[in-house]
Amino acid sequence: MTTKLLQFVNIKKEMPKKRGSSLRLKDFNEIYNDFNKLEGKKQAGRCSQCGIPFCQVHCPLQNNIPDWLKLAAENRLEEAYEVSHSTNNFPEICGSICPQDRLCEGNCVIEKGFESVTIGRVEKHITDTAWKKGWIKPLNPPKEIDKSIGIIGSGPAGLAAAEELRKKGYKIEVYDRYDRPGGLLIYGIPNFKLEKYAVERRTQILKKGGIVFHNNFEVGNTKSFDFLRKKHNAILIATGVYKARELDFSEENLTGVVPALDFLITSNKKGLGDNVPEFDNGELNSTDKNVVVIGGGDTAMDCVRTAVRQNAKSVTCLYRRNRENMPGSMREVFHAEEEGIHFSWLSVPTKFRGVNGHVNIDVAKVALGESDASGRMIPKTLLNKTHTLKADLIIKALGFNPENIPKMFDEPKLKVTNWGTLKIDHNTMMTSEPGVFAAGDIVRGASLVVWAIKDGRDAAESIHKYLIKC
Ligand code: FAD
Ligand code: SF4
Ligand code: SF4
Repeated sequence: MTTKLLQFVNIKKEMPKKRGSSLRLKDFNEIYNDFNKLEGKKQAGRCSQCGIPFCQVHCPLQNNIPDWLKLAAENRLEEAYEVSHSTNNFPEICGSICPQDRLCEGNCVIEKGFESVTIGRVEKHITDTAWKKGWIKPLNPPKEIDKSIGIIGSGPAGLAAAEELRKKGYKIEVYDRYDRPGGLLIYGIPNFKLEKYAVERRTQILKKGGIVFHNNFEVGNTKSFDFLRKKHNAILIATGVYKARELDFSEENLTGVVPALDFLITSNKKGLGDNVPEFDNGELNSTDKNVVVIGGGDTAMDCVRTAVRQNAKSVTCLYRRNRENMPGSMREVFHAEEEGIHFSWLSVPTKFRGVNGHVNIDVAKVALGESDASGRMIPKTLLNKTHTLKADLIIKALGFNPENIPKMFDEPKLKVTNWGTLKIDHNTMMTSEPGVFAAGDIVRGASLVVWAIKDGRDAAESIHKYLIKC
C-alpha cells in the first residue's frame, strides 16, 4: 500500500512520546520513546518533496532527506536505510543528538506555515529498524589493499573515516587513549541523550568488519607519533578538543570545583558499570549537594541534567547572558527547565571562597550591550550588583580548547592555527606533514557530531586519493 506524501496539512508534527520529567529523573535512560511503524510512516508522509530541499542543503552531510522520507512513508525501510547510510555512517546517532532546530528541521520549508517534518526522529526510526531486522552487516570489502592507515582518536570523525577506508579494503588500526572507543559519544554525551548501546553496537560491527582497535593507547605516551608514522602508510589525527577553558579569576585550587568533562566522564563510566572511585567517594558526584554549573552551552545543559538525576539537593545554572542569547540548543534548555533546573541568567562568578567545606561564589549581575560578530549580545559585568551563592559542587562548563598537539606528539613541524587547532589544506585535509591528515574538532574547534562525521568522510576520500598516487 502506498502512503500519500504532502500530508503536512492533515497530519500534525509529532515527536515520539517523551517520558514525563518526574519519571525520567529516576534513571539515565533516553527521554524519548521510539516511533512505532505507523507513527514513523505518518510523520515521514508529511514531507512535501520539495524541488529544492532546504533541509538537505542545511544538513552538513547533505543527506538525501526527501528520498528516505518518501521510502519511509511507503514502508520501504530497508531501501530507506541504504539511502540514509550512504551519506551518514551513524544516522541513528545524528537522529538523536543533532540540533535539528538549527540544521535540517530549522530549514524545512513547511516550517513557515506548519511545523517542520520530524526529520531527525524518522532518520533514527529507519536505522533502529535496520538494526532490529538485521539489515546492518559487518563490512566485507571486495578486495584487500596492502596499505594501512593509523587513525588517532575513535570519536565520530575517526570512526567515520575508519568505516569509509575499510570499505575500500585498506587495513585500519584505530588508537585511543580511553579504554572504550567512541570519544565523546561514549564518555561525554550523557546516556539520556544518546544511549551507550547505540555507540557500542556501532564499534562492535566495525570490529567485525576487520577494523583493529587499540584502546588505552595514548599516542605521545604509550608509543610515539613517529612510531605510528613508520608503521602506517597514512595517519589521520582525530583527537578532538579537551582542554577546559578557565574562568578569568584565580580559583586557588578549592575542593569542590571541577571541570565539566571530569564530571560527565565519571557519570558515564558509572553508568557503563565501571568501578569509579571518584564517584563512589563523592568527589565527582552531586548526590545531596547544592550544585552550581557555570556556562550556557550544551555541555552545561548535560551537566545540570546529570546532576539532577544524581539526586542533587539543588541545581543552578549560572549564565552570563539571557535565555535568548544562549549558545546551546533551545531543545536542551527546554528539557532542563522541564526537569526543574534553576537558571540564574545575566550572572557571572567573580570569586570562589572556601567556607567550612562549602564554596561560596560571589556573583555579579551582567548587562547586555551591542551584538558581537556572531549576533549574540556582549555581556558587561556590573560589579556594584553582587550577591553570594553557596555551593557544595561547582562544575565549570565554559567550553574547550585544543591541546598542544605538536608538543604532545613531539612533532614540531605540525602547524597549528591561531586558535591552536591543527592547520590543514581544506581541499585535501592534509596537515603540514605529508601523509598526515586531520579531521573533526581538532580542526574545527568544539563543534558537532555531524560535522565530525562529515570531516571523517572527507578525510577518508582524501587519504584514498593520496594513497593511490603513492
Ligand atoms: P572526540 O569525540 O572528542 O574523539 C576524540 C578521541 O580522541 C577521544 O576518544 C580521545 O580519547 C582520543 N584522543 C585524544 N588524544 C589522543 C591521543 N594522544 N592518543 C590517542 N587517542 C587520543 N554534538 C552534537 O552534535 N550533539 C550533542 O548533543 C553534543 N553534545 C555534547 C556534549 C558534551 C558534553 C560535549 C563535550 C560535546 C558534545 N557534542 C555534541 C560535540 C561532539 O561530541 C563533538 O563535536 C564530537 O564528538 C567531535 O568528534 P571528534 O571525533 O572530533 O572528537
Ligand atoms: Fe538532520 Fe543531522 Fe540527520 Fe542531517 S544528520 S538530516 S542535520 S539530523
Ligand atoms: Fe520535505 Fe521539509 Fe525537506 Fe521539503 S524541506 S523536502 S518538506 S523535509
